[in-house]
Amino acid sequence: MNDKKKLIAANWKMNGDLAANEALLHAILAGIGDAACDLALAVPAPYLAQVQALTAGTVLALAAQDVSQHEAGAYTGEVSAAMLRDFGVRYTLVGHSERRQYHGETDQVVAQKAQRALAAGLTPIVCVGETLQEREAGQTEAVVRRQLAAVIQRNGHCISEVALAYEPVWAIGTGHTASPAQAQAVHAVLRAQLRAASAQAGRIRLLYGGSLNAANAAPLLAQPDIDGGLVGGASLKAPDFLAIIAAAH
Ligand code: PEP
Repeated sequence: MNDKKKLIAANWKMNGDLAANEALLHAILAGIGDAACDLALAVPAPYLAQVQALTAGTVLALAAQDVSQHEAGAYTGEVSAAMLRDFGVRYTLVGHSERRQYHGETDQVVAQKAQRALAAGLTPIVCVGETLQEREAGQTEAVVRRQLAAVIQRNGHCISEVALAYEPVWAIGTGHTASPAQAQAVHAVLRAQLRAASAQAGRIRLLYGGSLNAANAAPLLAQPDIDGGLVGGASLKAPDFLAIIAAAH
């Protein structure tokens, strides 16, 4: 029995503009009612102020898509955890596979980013997941355990403050979703690793991400170790995002 409040987090990726953001937020807020889960929107950094203003006093919490591993200084283009705090950000994605793949983020960099987020009072949503090649080579468990181990090693004392997202790379943006059994199996591995690191592991929220949509959300979110979802494409369409939220109770 999973009695934690679920977390549904949207990842807008590099999409949106001022007008489209406003229309999307209005549609979501109009349809949301009494959501039974916690909700967060990871929006592009330039729109944090806009989304902060439009979601103030609502159930929608603000999230960033990335955070610098540095505290401050000569790091052109970077955004620090403290800057995110200034805009009311509560969560930040860390180590999304697109950051690992296109920006060379290593397990160690991801662990440092999680540390910066935690130090600033943000909840890092640490993303882990295997590629198709790794899954086919039977390496899924080893890959996600390695990715999580780096985060635990650096943040062991406060690991219960993170959220984790299992996002198989082969499922992100592809329309190929992990089956509920496949996802649960990996979540159980991650939970066991967290339990070995912390007595509080039971309260860490483990999200599933990867082509989550209105049709497949309910059985995935019903799994015992799946405590929410990280939603990319479907979070850009209010009816789809609202249906996923409705499935999270
Ligand atoms: C993501 O970007 O984190 C994601 C899960 O994307 P999608 O839902 O589009 O697969």
